[in-house]
Amino acid sequence: MTENWNIYADWNPWHGCTRISEGCRHCYVYRQDAMYSAAVPSSTVRRTAAFDLPLRRRRDGRYRIAPHKVVFTCFTSDFLLPQADPWRPECWRMMRLRSDCMFYFFTKRIDRLASCLPPDWADGYPNVMVGCTVENQAMADYRLPIFASLPVRHKSVIVAPMLEHVDISAHLAGIEEVAAGGESGTQARLCDYDWILDLRRQCVEAGVAFRFHQTGALFRKDGRIYRIRRRHQLSQAHKAGIDHMIGDYYVPTNVKFDWD
Ligand code: SF4
Repeated sequence: MTENWNIYADWNPWHGCTRISEGCRHCYVYRQDAMYSAAVPSSTVRRTAAFDLPLRRRRDGRYRIAPHKVVFTCFTSDFLLPQADPWRPECWRMMRLRSDCMFYFFTKRIDRLASCLPPDWADGYPNVMVGCTVENQAMADYRLPIFASLPVRHKSVIVAPMLEHVDISAHLAGIEEVAAGGESGTQARLCDYDWILDLRRQCVEAGVAFRFHQTGALFRKDGRIYRIRRRHQLSQAHKAGIDHMIGDYYVPTNVKFDWD
């Protein structure tokens, strides 16, 4: 692909989620709902008013989501959540119709993908990128072999919130990019820069793009622990200057989004 994908849109067809692994402990969806005193519990999954956003048009007929955008999909839930099974086929249909956009979702439920795919998926829609999230070695060892077995045209691995040193070197074949970062929030768990650097090394050796997306709120570097304010977490990671860019880069480096 040669298009400039360095612009983005958000599409959250449903909201709410249920925790599934250690990386969910301080889930940002729960945190943000609590911050805004949401009336509905975060564990209640409901379709949003933006469900059909990709097909909505402006008065002049143009799509509300302009062509050639990376569409961050389902970032206030998990796209493969069982509660969303009745709604997902319509989302696949919208993605297929909007082949001019790149839809990108992260999931901690990659073990559900095979049973959630649409009948015409074949070896993957060319305009869908799937990010498999792993937060520790146990989840990497469980989820990444499953991910490797799945027909997906564009694959990424999200190591976040990075809770320990993680070795994914055996699972990098077919991966377009790896992104890593620490945990946000007042209760954030530690992320160590040495873990980030070793993950980068694994990617460089495998010829896979790597991006240090954010430090998280509690970050250790050279043995010293830093509390980093939310507004600096992305810029501090960027300042480290360790991104390893190869070819197209789907995720803009200047976008602040929370991890799934
Ligand atoms: S949104 Fe993501 S982090 Fe939050 S509970 Fe769901 S899977 Fe876990």
